[in-house]
Amino acid sequence: MKNFNYKSASNTKEATKLASGRATFLAGGMTLLPAIKLRLAAYSDLINIKKIKGLSGIKVSSKSIRIGATTTHAEVANSKEVGKSIPSLAVLADGIGDPQVRNRGTIGGSIANNDPAADYPSACLALNAIIHTNKRKISADKFFKGMFETDLKKSELIVSIEFEVPEKSGYAKFPNPASRYAIVGVYVTQLKKEVRVAITGAASCVFRSKELEEALANNFSSSAVDNVNISSKEFNSDIHASAEYRAHIIKVMTKKAMSYC
Ligand SMILES: Cc1cc2nc3c(=O)[nH]c(=O)nc-3n(C[C@H](O)[C@H](O)[C@H](O)COP(=O)(O)OP(=O)(O)OC[C@H]3O[C@@H](n4cnc5c(N)ncnc54)[C@H](O)[C@@H]3O)c2cc1C
Repeated sequence: MKNFNYKSASNTKEATKLASGRATFLAGGMTLLPAIKLRLAAYSDLINIKKIKGLSGIKVSSKSIRIGATTTHAEVANSKEVGKSIPSLAVLADGIGDPQVRNRGTIGGSIANNDPAADYPSACLALNAIIHTNKRKISADKFFKGMFETDLKKSELIVSIEFEVPEKSGYAKFPNPASRYAIVGVYVTQLKKEVRVAITGAASCVFRSKELEEALANNFSSSAVDNVNISSKEFNSDIHASAEYRAHIIKVMTKKAMSYC
């Protein structure tokens, strides 16, 4: 069904009230509108959330960066504060899609959608993010549940995403040459208390690699990656890359990410 009512909310309360039944939120529309057009999804109402004041913007403190849900990828990529505190996050945002996608697409839309090849979910896991919704706080470790599946409940609105400022970090992506989505993307961080390695594009959902985290926690250097065995058992295999190739690329991208740390 391509017919729907278009409504615009002026605050979060109104947005969640309007998003009941078969309605859904509309942010940048970069994923939602193609899905409707291709008849992969159908809704009675689309609730525009981009006019809600306070849902967009970047706030920096010494320990974290909080980014409003409707902040665009271009705003994150061009933010001096993000570039200074978490340069790898600005690099990630700058590598999403093309200028049109970066100027329309939002961080909240990206993580709510949880595409297996999207970039931001890896940043959320690697930077120990907290997802603030209109109802609660969700740790990134609990937020991403499976392919296009998150812990969000019906009508629950992401308000902002809070990233821990790392001591060191790097993101490296082997992109699909057409869409720029990740065939494999690896985000490495050295946080105050732990080392995290998050991988997108390889499997049905973003995940943390225990093997790589253990190796880098013992020795935070590229050479530590050499002896790590990455099993391809659960990985995607498609026209772009076999599961075995993805397993190989993970190590290559981890080393590349380490070179940015
Ligand atoms: C050609 C193309 C190339 C792309 N390349 C990349 C890429 O390289 N890397 C990458 O990561 N992504 C890529 N994308 C996706 C892009 O990053 C989109 O920004 C993202 O998928 C969705 O964001 P949006 O703001 O457009 O959300 P929308 O399309 O408006 O919404 C997506 C979903 O999220 C829900 N939603 C939106 N905002 C909220 C909120 N605040 N709270 C709760 N639910 C919400 C909507 O209801 C909908 O279900 C690409 C897209 C296109 C079209």
